[in-house]
Amino acid sequence: MSHFSQYKDTIQPGDLALAWVSRDNVKPFRIVPGESFNTRYGSFEHNAMIGKPYGSQIAVRTKGSNKFGFIHVLQATPELWTISLPHRTQIVYTPDSSYIIQRLQCTSRSRVIEAGTGSGSFSHAFSRTAGHLFSFEFHEVRYQQAKKEFEDHGLIADGNVTITHRDVCQDGFTIKPTDTTSYYEGSSAHPHVAVTLDADAVFLDLPAPWDAIPHLDEVIMKNAKVILCCFSPCIEQVDKTLEILEKHGWTDVETVEIQGRQYEARRQMVRKLDDALNRLRDVRERKQVGVERRKRMFTKLLNEEDTASEVRPPTEKTQFNPFGKGSRVKEGDTKFQWKEVTKVEAEIKSHTSYLTFASKIGKISRNEEEVLRELQK
Ligand code: SAM
Repeated sequence: MSHFSQYKDTIQPGDLALAWVSRDNVKPFRIVPGESFNTRYGSFEHNAMIGKPYGSQIAVRTKGSNKFGFIHVLQATPELWTISLPHRTQIVYTPDSSYIIQRLQCTSRSRVIEAGTGSGSFSHAFSRTAGHLFSFEFHEVRYQQAKKEFEDHGLIADGNVTITHRDVCQDGFTIKPTDTTSYYEGSSAHPHVAVTLDADAVFLDLPAPWDAIPHLDEVIMKNAKVILCCFSPCIEQVDKTLEILEKHGWTDVETVEIQGRQYEARRQMVRKLDDALNRLRDVRERKQVGVERRKRMFTKLLNEEDTASEVRPPTEKTQFNPFGKGSRVKEGDTKFQWKEVTKVEAEIKSHTSYLTFASKIGKISRNEEEVLRELQK
């Protein structure tokens, strides 16, 4: 069973877990009794995690101090894998993959083609949702690394992923018995026979998708609507893709771009005009006091009097100033008035590419006799 598709309540030996160390430090690790997960905040024993619910905070006392270091142990999900995986290529991030999955109308019955596999970020998301994923990668080392990772994560033998070592632009997508693929290694039930892909969703993250598109007709479903998405960073690539899509009978063509934004709910201090006026008065008074003190000092210097003996009057600590510097006030402090606001965070991590969608129905004529028979039933 895939570590990414089953829900588990508690942490068990052999699980692939994710340690949430901080917002931008999430690390995958395997739960092995007797081992430890080491961070600069401390060493966390796996035995202390086993049996605890996923999401638990695990704390250890930092050596030689009274402080504690802690991590949260989380269950593996495609989203967390995307932010923790070892990068071998550019990857597709969740804001894009979630949008693409819904636009491809991907469900547990979908048969999806993906090229190239790259770092396998999107493959994990597809694997959780789709019925079967056929992933293609032409780079030998990346193919081997992705295959091993998919095997470790239970996506191949017990899962729904077939990965094939292939240049799809040159050799297309048909899986033949002579191919290097996880299918023949992982499934003894289907020894060395050609594989029927019958895909109804296609995702191409390739530098030259226009060379792969003409090969798709051989492997997509003929009697259902097939949806395709091409992920390209440059508009010139989009242009070439559109040309080839039109030439090969793809319709409903649309190019979109995801601009990820994170909206944060915050409280903002209510600032009144009176506050501004009080602050200006305060600044003016302080300035005046300073000017007069300096004047006195100069006069004394000129008269050669002892200036060191002048005692500086204690200045009252600046009251909080809602318009500038001052003592820090905690958000929501009940001594002040607040209003709920939305703060837009800077763009979130998504590899900004153009997403070109298109669809195709292979068999556009219908068998009138068959339709009639169905209607008469
Ligand atoms: N979508 C992947 C992810 O989320 O991790 C990243 C894909 S990466 C940007 C593109 C991959 O396509 C590279 O690993 C590259 O080796 C592979 N590739 C490029 N041309 C290819 C081709 N003609 N056939 C198969 N794979 C190809």
